[in-house]
Amino acid sequence: MNATSNGTLLNYINGAWIKSSAATFLDVTNPATAQVIGHVPLSPGGEVAQAADAAQAAFLLWRRVPVTERIQYLFRFKALLEQNLDDIARMITQECGKTYAEAVAELRRGIENVEVACGAPILMQGVNNEDIAPGIDEHMIRQPLGVVACITPFNFPGMIPLWFLPYAVATGNCFILKPSEKVPASAQKLIALVEQAGFPAGVVQLVHGGKETVDAILDHPRIKAVSFVGSTPVARYIYSRATANGKRAQCQGGAKNPVVILPDADMEMTTRIMADSAFGCAGQRCLAASVAITVGDARSTFTEMIADAATSRTVGYGLNEGVQMGPVITNESKQRIESIISAGAQEGANLLVDGRSRAVAGYADGAFVFPTVLTDVAPTGALARTEIFGPVLSLMHAATIEDAIALVNDRAYGNMACIFTNSGAAARKFRYEAIAGNIGINIGVAAPMAFFPFSGWSESFFGDLHAQAHHGIEFYTQTKVVIERWPQDWSRQF
Ligand code: NAD
Repeated sequence: MNATSNGTLLNYINGAWIKSSAATFLDVTNPATAQVIGHVPLSPGGEVAQAADAAQAAFLLWRRVPVTERIQYLFRFKALLEQNLDDIARMITQECGKTYAEAVAELRRGIENVEVACGAPILMQGVNNEDIAPGIDEHMIRQPLGVVACITPFNFPGMIPLWFLPYAVATGNCFILKPSEKVPASAQKLIALVEQAGFPAGVVQLVHGGKETVDAILDHPRIKAVSFVGSTPVARYIYSRATANGKRAQCQGGAKNPVVILPDADMEMTTRIMADSAFGCAGQRCLAASVAITVGDARSTFTEMIADAATSRTVGYGLNEGVQMGPVITNESKQRIESIISAGAQEGANLLVDGRSRAVAGYADGAFVFPTVLTDVAPTGALARTEIFGPVLSLMHAATIEDAIALVNDRAYGNMACIFTNSGAAARKFRYEAIAGNIGINIGVAAPMAFFPFSGWSESFFGDLHAQAHHGIEFYTQTKVVIERWPQDWSRQF
């Protein structure tokens, strides 16, 4: 960790690690052990301005570096990420709580984005037509925006910054990362590797902080684009303020993902995949299955099998061997999740597997919520509608696939919807009609690979160009059209 001797995390501005002048430093806590592992500054707006000035100065040079050379830094960064995978994954587990295997898996998905961005020479090509009129040609080229910034959530500290950074710098922009103040040390490790990869000073900056830091990003005139991933209320706020200030914005919000289970599904496979989707990462995935809608006879089989899977999941400290699920991010989050479960039970849901008030031996102060399954959940209640962001699966039932799709589409979010079935016709109907940007067919976490856009819809996304792939390239570039004539005799023969 690039930190001072007392574990204070540092900002990285203009190629130097700098101690923030912040008035407030928050504790960074391991959610399994409750130990304080660092202190993160809530950096003041002035430090965002320093980062933006450094980035602007670097941009004037960086945009002139040929794209074929810019991606060489990314190749080196990718190699360093591979070499340091274990070290970063351990830090992710320590500050975020997920298991070591889950931390490695998220880093793999992050590295995939670095690999895709290395295709920038072809991805950012323009288009042209010769002879739009006699002797006149027209071209569309892509140019970088300038200084761009990204604000990330706590749940994928290694992956989500890499949804943005590689595309931004490959296309010639200079980048500022403001990571979640709950998991700042993983981001700091990523940026230490950016430094080792030799990126010129000012191309990439790290500024830790909270709301004041974010507001400074949203208001700074030099910052031309803002990428955000986090909860829906904050996504909406950031989208409004950034765009009101004339910036481009892409803001990914929260989720409440429904999954339909038809009676012809392979129940063993479905249960295994559903347990991983609902309880993996302690349910703290924006693509976690949150509501399962059984159709017809699927009800009794799936209910029994998912209850077994929930009960048998091994919960504990993610660095320990054999642990399948870690804690949630904080004890406040644990209390919030447990109170939603209680409210659901009061509303009439049946608590089939109750994960509240359970402790892990040796980790009495850890923020553990065990896998929880509720049946007979009302479609209009808190369990069915609130993003719980914990290891809680709510079961509902529908008589037909049409009724199930109606339940899927009766929600504000649109991040993901999945179906389990052996019927191609049912799968097609679902794919066609479900209102969500990421669809899974016999898949529990429909996370797009880096070469596809991460397509949230509705309240799960504010903007038009998503993260990753071509969308990332388009978001970070502006098109310029050139119409040119070079006088000579181009007179037409016919
Ligand atoms: P969050 O919204 O609380 O915080 C995200 C970021 O916004 C952090 O960097 C935080 O410092 C900043 N922030 C928080 N409140 C702010 C405010 N009032 N003004 C300005 N900035 C503010 O989210 P979180 O709890 O860190 O992450 C969990 C959420 O992220 C869940 O809702 C989850 O669904 C969502 N998420 C969505 C996706 C997706 O792709 N759609 C991916 C991962 C996580």
